[in-house]
Amino acid sequence: MTTSSLCDSLPVLAIHGGPKVKTTPFGKGRRFDEAEAQEVLEALEQNTLFYHHGQKVKTFLRDFNALYGVQYSVAVSSGTAAIHVALGAAGVSVGDEVITSPITDQGTVIGILYQNAIPVFADLDPRTYNLDARSVEARITPRTKAIVAVHLAGNPCDMDALMDVARRHSLTVIEDCAQSWLCRYKGRLAGTIGDYGCFSTNDFKHISTGDGGIVTVNSGDEADYRATHAFADKNYRRFDANLRGDIAYLAPNYRMTELQGAVGIAQLKKLPGICETRHRYGERITEGIRDLPGIAPHGVTEGGWSSYWFYMLRGDFAAEAGQGRRARLSCTRAEFSQALAAEGIPNAPGYIPHVLYLNSMFRERHAYRGSHFPFDLSDARYEPGLCPVAEAILRDCVRLEVNEFYTPQDIEDIIAGIRKVAAYYARSDTVASPAA
Ligand SMILES: *Cc1c(COP(=O)(O)O)cnc(C)c1O
Repeated sequence: MTTSSLCDSLPVLAIHGGPKVKTTPFGKGRRFDEAEAQEVLEALEQNTLFYHHGQKVKTFLRDFNALYGVQYSVAVSSGTAAIHVALGAAGVSVGDEVITSPITDQGTVIGILYQNAIPVFADLDPRTYNLDARSVEARITPRTKAIVAVHLAGNPCDMDALMDVARRHSLTVIEDCAQSWLCRYKGRLAGTIGDYGCFSTNDFKHISTGDGGIVTVNSGDEADYRATHAFADKNYRRFDANLRGDIAYLAPNYRMTELQGAVGIAQLKKLPGICETRHRYGERITEGIRDLPGIAPHGVTEGGWSSYWFYMLRGDFAAEAGQGRRARLSCTRAEFSQALAAEGIPNAPGYIPHVLYLNSMFRERHAYRGSHFPFDLSDARYEPGLCPVAEAILRDCVRLEVNEFYTPQDIEDIIAGIRKVAAYYARSDTVASPAA
């Protein structure tokens, strides 16, 4: 379909009483079946649910290591825990600064603050919504110790650029792969490129163990592995003869149980199929909407392969209130979102409500109630305008669900819905640049 043919006949939007695009229910499916049930039963039959005595967490990690081609990984209780453990293993401590993305789950920064380190936010690429290495480099100070690179929504960061910055400044790189199972960058799996890779199996991710997580130890160094392992388990040295030996420093209990490990074994077998389907669907949406004026598809990093945890486009929408420049779409984002929903296409106008640094916790610098510690150890500031690209992304993004249970027809209907609504609101009289 060419751009000009969009203007020939404008169908009546469902929100104006016209027929809906989506007339059939979206595909649904069961995430858990007999395979998970069998594994859980076996876990119970072991008569222990402790990861170090049973076989389920060990098998889950062995399978994960084989899939990812890594030597060492540690199972933990959540993705948040995985990031905290990686930070602890890397020696991130009081007063250190850690550079990360302002568009992510809160779980990315929780561990930083529990180590009494300070999150510093760098700006993003306007198309891929991932860290811009130049902004990261500009925010390095003598206190900077690590980068937490969030691979958002299944799409890898520009790892060559980030690893280059990290190497030149001797920084640890922790990959937050919570949303990016089996995502690849130039043929390498995200989570195996930096020093540590952190995964989540919470119930909303590609695979679920209810809650859970994994940390990869990419140095391949056994001492590093043991320190990482101990950091997830109260700093007990499970591999040492003298388990209850000296506790050298503080570490939390983030252990995974055998029940989670059991479910994880069965879920991991389904993972490649889930990611392949999501990848195909996400790529198809891009192909189906890329010619629409005023709509920017979800960009994939050059050399990247996305497993699309969600699909997020940007629109050149009219400003919510009053004036502003002429946008290429005559509707606001809210109007676009409502019109699309009326067509039967579920979507959300936005992602997180605002960039992380605009939460009260940062603006008022209180991680711990009644205290400004550890923020008072750093000059890092948290105010509007700090990461203008990230703020713009959250203002004009529209998020669509991509789900492995959807049918190919569901994806075609999503595309048709977006095309119908975008065509209706497209302005023929504007020559503005596309959403940037
Ligand atoms: C889900 C998520 C986390 C946290 O994982 P939990 O298992 O919920 O603790 C961290 N980072 C990102 C980007 C996430 O999406």
